[in-house]
Amino acid sequence: MAGSEGIGIKRLHHIGIVVRDLEEAIGRYQARLGLSLSHVEELPGAGVRIAYFPLGGTRLELIQPLDPNSGVARFLSKRGEGMHHLAYAVEDLGRSLDLCRRQEMELIDQVPRPGGEGASVAFLHPRSTGGVLTELIEEKGL
Ligand code: ZN
Repeated sequence: MAGSEGIGIKRLHHIGIVVRDLEEAIGRYQARLGLSLSHVEELPGAGVRIAYFPLGGTRLELIQPLDPNSGVARFLSKRGEGMHHLAYAVEDLGRSLDLCRRQEMELIDQVPRPGGEGASVAFLHPRSTGGVLTELIEEKGL
């Protein structure tokens, strides 16, 4: 059956949540939900700071925009704090993007770009994914 291989998704890699104040949000996730912070990383290229909370086979990523012109900052000012995107791990991001194009999905990133922890990432437009901003991520060293 055509398209049965999908776009090469292996697992849910993380859930991205936009926050206004990273330190305040980290405290909240630790104190109220009892989750353990792994580490915080700044991605100047993307204009964000990210706090990583491993959780089962996946993790939460709390994202604070640093650059007021970033997509994340625009999201925050329009919709406030909350769920931002789902990220799926893929084996070969270039191939997955080709498969997306073949299905005429709308890509935000035409080519992979650097994400956190040395990974390569690309975003799919919510118009192509039933309203969910979707990130594909190829982890470093796979
Ligand atoms: Zn993400």
